[in-house]
Amino acid sequence: MATRFWHPVADMHAVAAGGELWLDHGSGAHIWDVEGRRYVDATAGLWYANVGYGRDEIVDAAAAQMRRLHAYSHYGDVSTEPTSRLAERIASLAPIDDAVVFFASGGGESVETTVKMVRRYWSLTGEPDRTVIVTRERCYHGLAGYGTSIVGTDVFKAGVGPLVGDTIRVPWASADALADAIDEIGAERVAAFFCEPIIGAGGVLLPPEGYLDAVQSVCRDRGVLFVVDEVICGFGRVGDWFASTRFGLEPDAITFAKGITSGYVPLGGVIVGPRLRDAFWSAEAGVWRHGYTYSGHATATAAAHPNLDILEREGLLGRALELELELADALGPLAEHALVGEVRAGLGAVAAVQIDESVVAADPGLPDRVTLGARDHGVLTRTLVGGGLQVSPPLVVDREGVDEIASGLRAALDDVAAQG
Ligand code: PLP
Repeated sequence: MATRFWHPVADMHAVAAGGELWLDHGSGAHIWDVEGRRYVDATAGLWYANVGYGRDEIVDAAAAQMRRLHAYSHYGDVSTEPTSRLAERIASLAPIDDAVVFFASGGGESVETTVKMVRRYWSLTGEPDRTVIVTRERCYHGLAGYGTSIVGTDVFKAGVGPLVGDTIRVPWASADALADAIDEIGAERVAAFFCEPIIGAGGVLLPPEGYLDAVQSVCRDRGVLFVVDEVICGFGRVGDWFASTRFGLEPDAITFAKGITSGYVPLGGVIVGPRLRDAFWSAEAGVWRHGYTYSGHATATAAAHPNLDILEREGLLGRALELELELADALGPLAEHALVGEVRAGLGAVAAVQIDESVVAADPGLPDRVTLGARDHGVLTRTLVGGGLQVSPPLVVDREGVDEIASGLRAALDDVAAQG
């Protein structure tokens, strides 16, 4: 037995045969493995390490909270100072007037919470037939029960039998298609549209000009709740606090995770506007029996504060705007490579080098060989759905680090091309 660790999202036959990559420590935008090899982190972990690695002030805040009171259930009327203060702080950053925050432990739980919340909202407000959840093809909303049911790529659903009903997908780039789908099914059946503003794990598909505004209007015109999943985009990744702030959206709810703590401690949640809140907080609504052991975990919320301080103090939202240009500039020339179809970049610190579709069709394992090969050239990246290579470094990466990513990916592409 090569390992007893069953890895998430892994081909365990290959891992057991090929071995594991053991990472050891990190600093800024770089990570070292246990052999001492240095890598530039092209993916910020899994789109989360916005402030980079080795931030003592986050470690100190988490340790101090652990010494004081590491956690206590926040069910009912219980709270802790960092948790209540974080809810205030997140609400003040969000583009939703008078917002409140429901905490979870990660993106998946945030999505589960929000699907249940929007369906129950309609039940509380006398329209219980509004159960349908609409999402974009290629979208990703995590892999828990509801998340797997609304995900936009079928590979995540393979072999697990019936999932949650009343979910539909619409073409990812068309607001008209959303309108048509809602009209066809009947708005009186539709609970919410969950919009991943940049489709991330599904390939880094940037929203077409005007798309986000248009889908918000489609929802508003039909009384459908508009939920934006900002698990990737939130807290700096797109050069603003949220994609919703950057694009002037006012969703009914925003899911978040990742960048709220830069992943130092798992934390997620949903920012909820007055429309949803009022229904749940009314005298008649009673207890909503939903929540998690770690909802509002005090160590996680304590870690979030210095993370937000760093984002503010070091101007990392502005740095993401610079990276928007630097990534496009550094990665753009890779589009000419024989194995590459296109480079998608130009919205915050999020990009993908897409292996040509015909190459992927002929040799589906090729993108993974490039990803693994990039390690030999000092780059940690990841293969996205459809064969794109993820580029979303920590926001603290400098231009030299960006160039390291581009040259490492080019070298890996050359190696794989040479292998034939
Ligand atoms: N939503 C989006 C947009 C995501 O990208 C992810 C994870 O990458 C999730 C939800 C699920 O988050 P988690 O993996 O923390 O459950």
